[in-house]
Amino acid sequence: MVKKILLDGSPCPKCAQAEQILRKRGYWDCIERIVIAREGDAESEGMRLASELDVELAPFFVVEDDSGDRRVHTRVFEFIKSELEDASSGGPPVSEGSFDPVEAQRRYRDMDPQSILAEAQSLFGTDLTLAFSGAEDVVLIDMASKNGRPFSVFSLDTGRLHGETYAYLDTVSAHYGVPIDVYTPDPALLEPFLKEKGMNSFYREGHRECCGIRKVEPLGRALAGRRAWATGLRRDQSPATRTDLVHVERDSAHTDASGRTPVKFNPLLDWDAQAVWDYIRANGVPYNPLHDAGYRSIGCEPCTRPSRPGEHERMARWWWEAETRRECGLHVDRSK
Ligand code: SF4
Repeated sequence: MVKKILLDGSPCPKCAQAEQILRKRGYWDCIERIVIAREGDAESEGMRLASELDVELAPFFVVEDDSGDRRVHTRVFEFIKSELEDASSGGPPVSEGSFDPVEAQRRYRDMDPQSILAEAQSLFGTDLTLAFSGAEDVVLIDMASKNGRPFSVFSLDTGRLHGETYAYLDTVSAHYGVPIDVYTPDPALLEPFLKEKGMNSFYREGHRECCGIRKVEPLGRALAGRRAWATGLRRDQSPATRTDLVHVERDSAHTDASGRTPVKFNPLLDWDAQAVWDYIRANGVPYNPLHDAGYRSIGCEPCTRPSRPGEHERMARWWWEAETRRECGLHVDRSK
């Protein structure tokens, strides 16, 4: 890694940020050597290397393979993705069918969430993706970072989120140095739906159709070809709909067109909201500022309200519908 020292002798902030990202993602040990490029000193080793390789940006990363060929990267995320993720994905990926969720579930009952996640990361490497939207999900990202193994993150932008939530996505991405793959609704489905039913049909007809287009269909694309994903689901989030969940299962709701069924991990299943918030505070985890305004469970802006004192958190989502219908369809087994 080539880092720059500025003319006044201070370290380059971009180089420091790149180092922080590598440390948080658990890749710092992969950096074999630091070379310093001193601004204004063409003879410093880093400046000579930059000139030799025709690089004008810092930091940059040089990878030399066994045959002596060199590859140069000037963006830390690109460097991680193309050089480090595959190399440290926990060994060869598990083959289809070699992971037995029923056996794993027996063990996971006695394991803490971070250990479950560590096993998932170890088994599936970069093919494990974390679904990110709320407080529970950022706890998983924090744990996955601390486990020091690769993982990826995705989020669903329904187009109806709060401004605070959009800002929060960027905050989390920067804090953990992890890119968030964002999936948006398919215009071919959304536009005719809006034309026919208007912007807020969920208040009249229920939320299922809108959630189907804005969440469920994009989730299918996010998981297509994936072998594993992890969610921040808690059993007590919805007594009416989530009591049957398990820590790990084959997610038959998301079998893709090629017949591949991803494994779904729910490491936080046995935690309650208090445990989540204890973790967030103890570990300085960034959270959505809407929580400070009374929101406990945060979804789309028109379908979420602040919680009232004493009510269950799920009451503040789709409050105009029956309790048993307050799921968006992301975690429903449609094979049943
Ligand atoms: S939560 Fe509301 S706005 Fe968001 S996708 Fe569902 S129905 Fe549509």
